[in-house]
Amino acid sequence: MKKRILTGDRTTGKLHLGHFVGSLQNRVKLQDEYDTFILLADIQALTTHFNNPELINSSIYNIAIDNLSVGLDPNKITFVQQSQVPAIAELTVFYSMLVSVNSLRHNPTIKSEAMQYGYDDLTYGFLGYPISQTADITFCNADLVPVGDDQLPHMEQARKIVRRFNDLYGETLKVPKELLSATPRLPGLDGNSKMGKSLGNAIYLSDDAETVTAKVKSALTDMNRISVANRGNPDICMVNKYHKAFNVDEYENICDMCRNAKIGCVACKKTLSIRLNQMLDPFRERRRYFENHQGEVRDLIVCGTSRANEIGAETMSNVKKAMKIII
Ligand code: ATP
Ligand code: MG
Repeated sequence: MKKRILTGDRTTGKLHLGHFVGSLQNRVKLQDEYDTFILLADIQALTTHFNNPELINSSIYNIAIDNLSVGLDPNKITFVQQSQVPAIAELTVFYSMLVSVNSLRHNPTIKSEAMQYGYDDLTYGFLGYPISQTADITFCNADLVPVGDDQLPHMEQARKIVRRFNDLYGETLKVPKELLSATPRLPGLDGNSKMGKSLGNAIYLSDDAETVTAKVKSALTDMNRISVANRGNPDICMVNKYHKAFNVDEYENICDMCRNAKIGCVACKKTLSIRLNQMLDPFRERRRYFENHQGEVRDLIVCGTSRANEIGAETMSNVKKAMKIII
């Protein structure tokens, strides 16, 4: 039997280049080797976007189409709409007995996201989302979770919960492992250390060529470099970081030219836009197909979720037996 991947995205908007290099590329690469589950995380979206149901609803389709546009094969992968899988909600309750509030409060990703959203008094749901995420991963007994590096504390938490559960109730659940990519955190156009869909600093997979070119023009570069005649410092330039992620062949050469004042920011940005648009063009074509066949996308989500529920029911039976929650 194939090993299983579970990974996914919060339905809080559209996917961007950070998602692509952080997780989507690995999803595509591994879809033949692994039974791949893509979670449309609409419950986790509620933790910060509970007051915007329209966005969450439209993002379910957008994110499914984003995933398909980069080359995930509808015949190979399984989409799962998180809110429609009761096993995830049930497991969340059981696991919540095994996690201290303090350990959640000290989770570095929770802390930085709370700061980003300006929360000082956290909701129970937001504080506890790493527990719900453990339920996402374990309802289908996933082996591998391709993620960006903001997810590392949550993966550690997931392993702790699984080990504690297995120690208490007997070997029932698999201990999951993360898979990081070569670019585990792509920075934002504005210099923020993370390109984020809720941060307004992203190039989206669905942006058209003109938008990509305009966004690249606006990207933060070495601010001390006044003109082409000055030597630049590529280490503090966002455009350079994108060359490293998306223009691997030319990257070293571009760094050298920047350091030696042989290429200016305008030309450097132009090269990047061309490269990005070349990469995005086939994605745009696939996107057009799925946008014109939304019924197919809906069926994929419904059928995938139904398969997930069969697997979830089996997991719940094992979990309840182990916990002696049976009569
Ligand atoms: P939000 O701001 O709503 O939380 P997000 O951009 O962080 O959105 P998520 O849906 O939370 O996106 O994350 C989905 C996956 O993409 C996770 O594995 C996450 O680590 C990864 N990811 C998100 N942003 C980046 C990034 N800038 N670089 C690398 N990976 C990323
Ligand atoms: Mg996030």
